[in-house]
Amino acid sequence: MSLDHGAQQRPQVSAGTAGLAGPMPIMEGVHLRKYFPVRRLRPLAQQQVVHAVEDMSLALYPGRALALVGESGSGKTTVARMLARLYEPTAGTITFRGEAVKGSSRSSLLAYRRHVQLIFQDPFSSLNPTHGVRYHLSRPLRLHGHSHSRAQDTEQVLALLDKVNLSPASQFIGKFPHQLSGGQRQRVAIARALAVQPEVLLADEPVSMLDVSIRLDVLNLLLRLKDEERLAVLFITHDIASARYFAENTLVMYAGQTVEGGPSDSVIQQPKHPYTQLLISAAPDATRRELAQLPARGEIPSLITPPTGCRFHPRCPHAMPVCRERFPGRTDLGGGHWTNCFLYGEGEMSGSADSTGVTTAESTTAPPSVSPSPSSPARNE
Ligand code: SF4
Repeated sequence: MSLDHGAQQRPQVSAGTAGLAGPMPIMEGVHLRKYFPVRRLRPLAQQQVVHAVEDMSLALYPGRALALVGESGSGKTTVARMLARLYEPTAGTITFRGEAVKGSSRSSLLAYRRHVQLIFQDPFSSLNPTHGVRYHLSRPLRLHGHSHSRAQDTEQVLALLDKVNLSPASQFIGKFPHQLSGGQRQRVAIARALAVQPEVLLADEPVSMLDVSIRLDVLNLLLRLKDEERLAVLFITHDIASARYFAENTLVMYAGQTVEGGPSDSVIQQPKHPYTQLLISAAPDATRRELAQLPARGEIPSLITPPTGCRFHPRCPHAMPVCRERFPGRTDLGGGHWTNCFLYGEGEMSGSADSTGVTTAESTTAPPSVSPSPSSPARNE
């Protein structure tokens, strides 16, 4: 993604959405952890786990977007899948409208997905090639009780196609995925998510697999829908420039830990954490002069045996002995902007979500143990 965060301006959102988020988040993740057991090659080998997400908290508000930014393998997708209830958290709580989300029966998951929908990264594999557009959009309508006849299906599917700018809708309703471009497929995937009239949209890199020429169109579509439908959006991206364009608040993740967060303008224009500075220095921007290119040392570490303390310390040009010993607490930088880095102080050891919707800090509680699960896949994230 190459949105120029120096020159691009976000379109104005209409009055009635921006800045009017209520004090209560619609969804929260509190102290979430996710560990994946690694499949053992030998029966007597020691059980290892992938520490994919460590003690993370976030909050989503109606009509607002929170960007979750980081490299591949930083744990962003795992967070989205926990919130979508595709993964069960190893520890921590997910709340929706202030109530803890519980139950894994088919009926409770169906009820949850009436409110929370996930848009996948790959529009080529998220649609079944053997079914047409009508099937993909009418199935959620029927499953969630929004349509009871073929005539109602047709009416609502046409309205959904219009909503995602696939027009004339009558020409798209009979098409199959192979007859659509990547951008058109992603619009169908977005329409499918909207079919259940959700309140929370978890968008996992929704434009990263699209041609550069149509990414901005799809981002603008999501911005409009967020505004019109008052959707709470989690926008996952590795492109920090698109985070500023799309989201009011930004949260930066590195190797399963959140390291900086706050209002997007503040985090991206005045990055404090060395990892955020590295991400921004690596993003193409012809207008930027003030931030020098930082040396990119090494790669994201193994999450089976992650570095102690601050996980960024093997790559950090400012690493100090204390960085290897423990994870820094959260330091408040003012205006809702915060970071976890010893360069700005010791920080406070706390981690509940704040009014900006983004926060985390290393908990003082011990991480939970993970019981081996032969059926669980080994993952890098
Ligand atoms: Fe670098 Fe230490 Fe800050 Fe981590 S805590 S980013 S290692 S200075």
